[in-house]
Amino acid sequence: MKASDLKITDLRVADINGLPKHMILLKIYTNAGIVGYGEVRDASSGTYAKMLKSRLVGENPLNVEKLFHRIKQFGGHSRQGGGVSGVEIALYDIIGKFYGIPVYQLLGGKYRDKVRIYCDTDVDGKHTGYDMGRALKKRMEDGFTFLKMDLGIELLYDEPGCLNAPAGFLDDLKTYSMKAISHQSGSIDKSLMFGKNYEIFTVPHYATGIHVTEKGFDYLEEYVREVREVIGYEIPLAIDHFGHVAIEDALRFAKRLEKYNIAWMEDLAPWHMTAHYKKMVDRSLVPICTGEDIYLAENFKPLLDAGLNVVHPDMLTVGGFAELKKLGAMCEQSGTALAIHMAESPIGFMAAVHAAAALKNVLAVEFHSVDHPEWYELVEPAIRLENGFMSVPDAPGLGIEALNEELIKQFKKDDCEEPWSSTDSWNGEWANDREWS
Ligand SMILES: [Mg+2]
Repeated sequence: MKASDLKITDLRVADINGLPKHMILLKIYTNAGIVGYGEVRDASSGTYAKMLKSRLVGENPLNVEKLFHRIKQFGGHSRQGGGVSGVEIALYDIIGKFYGIPVYQLLGGKYRDKVRIYCDTDVDGKHTGYDMGRALKKRMEDGFTFLKMDLGIELLYDEPGCLNAPAGFLDDLKTYSMKAISHQSGSIDKSLMFGKNYEIFTVPHYATGIHVTEKGFDYLEEYVREVREVIGYEIPLAIDHFGHVAIEDALRFAKRLEKYNIAWMEDLAPWHMTAHYKKMVDRSLVPICTGEDIYLAENFKPLLDAGLNVVHPDMLTVGGFAELKKLGAMCEQSGTALAIHMAESPIGFMAAVHAAAALKNVLAVEFHSVDHPEWYELVEPAIRLENGFMSVPDAPGLGIEALNEELIKQFKKDDCEEPWSSTDSWNGEWANDREWS
């Protein structure tokens, strides 16, 4: 088929759950029989992609930049970025398959043949730094060369004298928001978005009124000391999910962490509170990181100008390949390190791998599914990590030949439609999309 005759014919989604998160796989079909694979951001909604269908069908998928320009007004921060980002990735997959070249080649070629994967690690429930250290050590034995752990104030909830907070608020957190803390084995679900859960779940860091006492900091510092005692000091270790406390407390914790060589502390304030981040990066000697919920490269600019140390974009929120490449160039100018957030299926993973191959500077790509053997088999060829690295494939597009439809059926999300159900009800969706009058 001539390039000019290629057309998008359909768009469908499949919701899966349990590996470990709610993942929304996306297919864009063409009149050449080529199907592009994409993915909507984890724990969000296939609607974000389906509402774009009528704006894409009949268009030529090779014009990815033009199509992205048309739909980017329907993307937003965090999960809302998932629809347009997923489509952008699927279009790149189609282009690669049509011309028979890998996506990294479309991005300007690769800087590396294999991409470093960093392994998110958690130990649920009450535990010690030694427990966490042993869990991390196991990752090292599996070959991973860059690690991250969750370490948050929930460890202090039942320790007398470690936290102070407005009376009753810690009890509310335990009652209504524990799911948000212990979500590593799954996704935040709908129940957190209603009633008292929503009220408690959405109090931002600066507004909780929670403060950590000296005793609390002693406890957390001892935990980190125990972790380093087990894993040593040779390997980078980042920390996430400290909890919603004021940045002054985060800064005091950063001070305690200086001697433990922490790769970064993540999401210590809502990402759009640039002044909070400026305060932190000016005063902390531990690198400060955020970015997994930021849509479009341009929205990172205030944080880069404020001196943020590490950006952490998600391919399925930032807008896909072209936006990540733009962000990479911006980071080179500002001298900001970049790691890629990734909590998704092998489709989102392979998108991150191609992007990471084509960025000049990148620390590592995140990985959440090491304990879920079926995750690796969701695509053909199956994902195979070697000593904590992923080889960049040379097959066309993302390098995914097919999806494992049996596994997709097996892990179908209960409250969602059958995988790849008809999206014809979206065919008539239309609005005057010009953004000015
Ligand atoms: Mg995170």
